[in-house]
Amino acid sequence: MKINNCFDNLVPNYLFADVARKTNEFAAANPDREVIRLGIGDVTLPLAPIVVAAMKKGCEDLMYRETFKGYPEYEGYDFVREAIAGYYKSFGVTVGADEIFVSDGAKSDCGNLPDIFSRDNTVLVTDPVYPVYVDANIMAGRKIVYASSNRENGFLAMPDENVKADMIYLCSPNNPTGAAYSAEQLKIWVDYALKNDAVIIYDAAYEAFIEDDSPRSVFAIDGARQCAIELCSLSKTAGFTGTRCGYTVIPKELERDGHNLHSLWYRRQATKFNGVSWPVQCAAAEVFSKEGLRQIQTNLEYYKTNAKIIAGALDELGIFYTGGKNSPYIWLECPNKMGSWEFFDYLLEKAAVVGTPGEGFGENGKGYFRLTSFNSREKTEEAVERIKAAVRGWKLDARC
Ligand code: PLP
Repeated sequence: MKINNCFDNLVPNYLFADVARKTNEFAAANPDREVIRLGIGDVTLPLAPIVVAAMKKGCEDLMYRETFKGYPEYEGYDFVREAIAGYYKSFGVTVGADEIFVSDGAKSDCGNLPDIFSRDNTVLVTDPVYPVYVDANIMAGRKIVYASSNRENGFLAMPDENVKADMIYLCSPNNPTGAAYSAEQLKIWVDYALKNDAVIIYDAAYEAFIEDDSPRSVFAIDGARQCAIELCSLSKTAGFTGTRCGYTVIPKELERDGHNLHSLWYRRQATKFNGVSWPVQCAAAEVFSKEGLRQIQTNLEYYKTNAKIIAGALDELGIFYTGGKNSPYIWLECPNKMGSWEFFDYLLEKAAVVGTPGEGFGENGKGYFRLTSFNSREKTEEAVERIKAAVRGWKLDARC
């Protein structure tokens, strides 16, 4: 027998393992110094009380024959899909509840969606990139092309008319750069996709962090229903990283190559996915209730304030960055032209602060660094003071 030899084409990514190893070595060698982690990609605040109450009630339902639930529907319970459609409506976007598929998270969906597309398709991703888009398609043997996000375009790559792509992954607000597309920029991507008969797989996992007029959904853009699929997650929105729930929206009219994509995805899910558990769907629906939205907003504000504290420190230092607003991520140019691992080591040594070297997210991450706002307020404040001292110290060292 043979294995899928496309796995041989995966580039090993030791980024997070190397970050953990270096951090542990530093902590062991410096037991008197408190290490602060601003590289965390996971939420730290607990679930909202009203969401937990709904989950508990969902568990109790399972105790009684009258309310017990077995296999859920593949695409999610109607009341959850209605709640999500209502949420879209709250920011002015119309999607049908029957266009929504509830899932166990956006990572699975962005990795599994390619199942419905040909292996011969060319996949376009932006660089730097959330690595799942790349690896999932390399595993399936597809060709990847990169659109460059860089300082000149504010880390918001735009399409190149000379490049032909079939599947386009866009993530806005972006992980890792925190940058969010404007409606005008997204319209250019939508027009490009329509012209190329391509499909945009739009990852809106961080839409709840948007605070200006950047679109919360690709479906806010004219023409998107003819060329886009949207995925979203309750992970960062509502603290579901461990609980697991997300959703994917496929417009009913979206067709390619003579096939309806909504029907293909239903067929795929019905074959390989058996749905999200009753207690989790009860909890998910409650996220989108009036009180649920109010309670999750408290946590979102907490992270957003942390992000502003980090961004404020970079403003003071005169360091270029993207994100810090509309996003829990801050993507900064390493000061003094340091490489991203060089800056990692410098910050760890001088400030005992841990971030993520940008080059782990692609070529264009070289010389860049990602900080996140998921730590506590106290630790974030302490970390920025240390970062300021370390960067200013470098300037003084350099002058000597
Ligand atoms: N998409 C992006 C851009 C992410 O950053 C993440 C998580 O970090 C995910 C998807 C995964 O979301 P989920 O927890 O719903 O699988």
